[in-house]
Amino acid sequence: MSEQQKKIDVIVIGGGVGGLSAAQYAARAGLTIHLFEEMAPGGQILTVDGLENYPGFEEPINGFELSEKFAKQAENFGAIIHYAGVSEIKQNKDHSFSVTTDDGEFTASAVIMATGAKIRELGIPGEQEYKGKGVSYCATCDGPFFKGRRILVVGGGDAACGESQFLAKLSDKIVIIHRRDRFRAQKSLADRVANNENIEIRFMHTLKEIKGDGDKITSVVLHDLENDKEYEDNFDAVFVFIGSDPRTKLVPNALIDEGGYIITDEKMATNIKGLFAIGDVRNTPFRQIVTSASDGAIAAHAASEYIDELKGQAYI
Ligand code: NAP
Repeated sequence: MSEQQKKIDVIVIGGGVGGLSAAQYAARAGLTIHLFEEMAPGGQILTVDGLENYPGFEEPINGFELSEKFAKQAENFGAIIHYAGVSEIKQNKDHSFSVTTDDGEFTASAVIMATGAKIRELGIPGEQEYKGKGVSYCATCDGPFFKGRRILVVGGGDAACGESQFLAKLSDKIVIIHRRDRFRAQKSLADRVANNENIEIRFMHTLKEIKGDGDKITSVVLHDLENDKEYEDNFDAVFVFIGSDPRTKLVPNALIDEGGYIITDEKMATNIKGLFAIGDVRNTPFRQIVTSASDGAIAAHAASEYIDELKGQAYI
């Protein structure tokens, strides 16, 4: 039997903060744990320049740096991180899971889904054409290309407000549009945007079209919903922060809510025996780095209890 065919205790799918936290807690509890991540460790926080509200850091910490710390800490306790995709999860008769990955086939007693959510796109004319030529979903990655230029931000949540604050350090010509008459973002963030003199807010606005000369954006068509009027305005870049959709296609039988998020109990257990879900993919009232990390710790602990039950051993 090859190394990967041996039954391991836990497989974590997704290397964002939740997955890395679960890996660290599971490894530290003495479980054999393999984590699969297609890209780099960190997930959505990789695109955040300065995290202000992760407990324990009095100065904003860069998302990339924090991700590396999470990954190293998990590995130090014995978690094995594979930079490989997962294409299928099957539950066997004995309730174990067979997981097909780009690194081969693995069998585990428990699976923790930490697949997060996929960035939402607007689906308007010009969006695909000008991706990478002015249309962006990551302010830290692309903001520096538009120093001093006219930047349009679309969205009204924490991401739109937080990233506008970052962009406003690079340019004094930021316009944020939101489809409603108030932000969804946490009040402290929304207030800072409202008080930032480099940011102009246009509520009750949507973006209809992005126009350009083939190489770069030159203007956009906006819809002023209050006056039901469409107008063109000049911009060099469009940053889109309109939320994300949970990645659940690997577990089609897991119970989901009306938004498509996986429903769990307080131990992060899903309706499928041995399957746990954490972080942005699960139905949760508050999506933060600290809550994903917390979900990961709870799921690892619950998986450990579950595996002990399976082995007929005493509770740890
Ligand atoms: P979000 O909270 O879901 O907000 C998405 C925003 O985009 C909403 O204002 C929504 O409008 C708008 N929107 C959605 N679809 C749209 C469309 N097709 N056209 C125009 N506007 C559209 O998403 P998020 O800001 O990415 O945040 C995701 C999660 O991460 C949240 O739980 C958030 O709290 C968390 N987060 C936290 C921080 C932080 O604490 N520093 C930073 C970033 C993200 P409506 O308001 O009308 O629905």
